[in-house]
Amino acid sequence: MLVELNNVSKRYAMGDVWVDALKEITLSLDKGEFLAVKGPSGSGKSTLLNILSALDQCDSGTVQVGGVNVGALGEHKRSRFRNRHIGIVFQSFNLIPVLTALENVMYPLTLRGVKDAKPRALQALKDVGLEKQVNQRPTQLSGGQMQRVAIARAIVTRPDIVLADEPTANLDSKTSENIMALIQKLNKEQGVTFVISTHDNYVTSLASRVITILDGKLVGDSLAKNRQANK
Ligand code: ADP
Ligand code: ADP
Repeated sequence: MLVELNNVSKRYAMGDVWVDALKEITLSLDKGEFLAVKGPSGSGKSTLLNILSALDQCDSGTVQVGGVNVGALGEHKRSRFRNRHIGIVFQSFNLIPVLTALENVMYPLTLRGVKDAKPRALQALKDVGLEKQVNQRPTQLSGGQMQRVAIARAIVTRPDIVLADEPTANLDSKTSENIMALIQKLNKEQGVTFVISTHDNYVTSLASRVITILDGKLVGDSLAKNRQANK
């Protein structure tokens, strides 16, 4: 099992009241899955992704990713864990504006001291269909192209899991469909594991599995029945 969450709960203080962002979430995920996390705004999707990426820690329960007990890591080790195991794709792309597409994708490899950073980054840009844009800067690219660069940057390190919090929220519907088709292709052809939060029914229609979160609770799992039957 790549990911195992056991009874994970998380609350936030809002002044003097507490908000339960996640309530006793138990969930496991295999390598190679393409999981869509569905639910209305405020239901806990971002919190779940932030806990999976160790950006945030849960209050109770356990989180294991790739055999690492993420909850037990200190600040420094959590950031190392993220660098080694997690790729993140943001709504707003978060590219570095002064760097070209190629330099943006090389960046996480350069940080790690990888020697063949350039050929690997070129290959990742090819995988997302941007071989012609490698020397362009973000301002010269469309929204869809910027998100492709961000996806290339997330997969180039060969992470165990790529997390994307509403990756199509800032894109028009046609571009969103193209981006989701790309994510589905990377999942099927390269076996990249994706966890994607979304409001969008098109996204959930492409995913291999859909979970639904409502008020911090896991209320639906399209694979739950199969899992039970396999036990
Ligand atoms: P979603 O991603 O589904 O919109 P979130 O995970 O962002 O949901 O939020 C779940 C709940 O937790 C919401 O009520 C939200 O306001 C609250 N919340 C999330 N992050 C924080 C935070 N850092 N501080 C206080 N409350 C938060
Ligand atoms: P989404 O678009 O997924 O619903 P939000 O815009 O609700 O995300 O939240 C974006 C970020 O802000 C998340 O990382 C979330 O944890 C944090 N956040 C959400 N609600 C609050 C809040 N009430 N107070 C502080 N931070 C929040």
